[in-house]
Amino acid sequence: MLVEKVVSKLLDSNTFVVSNGADALIVDAGCSIDQIKSFIRGKHVLGVLLTHAHYDHAMYAVQYASEFGCKIYASSASQEYFKDSAKNYGPLKIDDFKDFCFFSKDQDFNFGSINVKAFLTPGHSKCGVCYLIKDVLFAGDLVFKKGIGRTDLYGGSKLQMLESLKRVSAINFNFLQSGHGDESTREEQSRNLKTFIKFLSR
Ligand SMILES: [Zn+2]
Repeated sequence: MLVEKVVSKLLDSNTFVVSNGADALIVDAGCSIDQIKSFIRGKHVLGVLLTHAHYDHAMYAVQYASEFGCKIYASSASQEYFKDSAKNYGPLKIDDFKDFCFFSKDQDFNFGSINVKAFLTPGHSKCGVCYLIKDVLFAGDLVFKKGIGRTDLYGGSKLQMLESLKRVSAINFNFLQSGHGDESTREEQSRNLKTFIKFLSR
């Protein structure tokens, strides 16, 4: 499995192209269509997975879906964020959800040869999702290499953040990719998660 990170011009958010042979998935949608196309190179994009609905992660999702002829996967709680740019913090406004597959509980997906486990992890937003693909966890803005996501934005919650960090600790990953910044290892995250679980449990 190949994971390629593309840094967007929207707050330097990360968009990922995950591929296995000719099968590909895109995690998040902050990069313009031209930027992302140079990483697809004829691969077959089978889905766009959103970690949450903030504009810097979801801005181009509908364009990706129409360009590549696939669906967008997101938490059901994303809908109110897509409809209201005050909630997604950008110029994003989506009212037509025909390209979307929403889910409201943890779910397994098979995209050709790529298996995905989706975990609902609110805290940074109501609509946070972590995706485990092989041994890589795509965590969006829930967890960073050093630190955790903000909980003071619309729909954020310290209590849900704490519960989600506990959930992430229990997931069997070797590498974690965040919505901004660098990849981290299991060991780095064991320390990071422990620190913030302790901090939020006070
Ligand atoms: Zn965010």
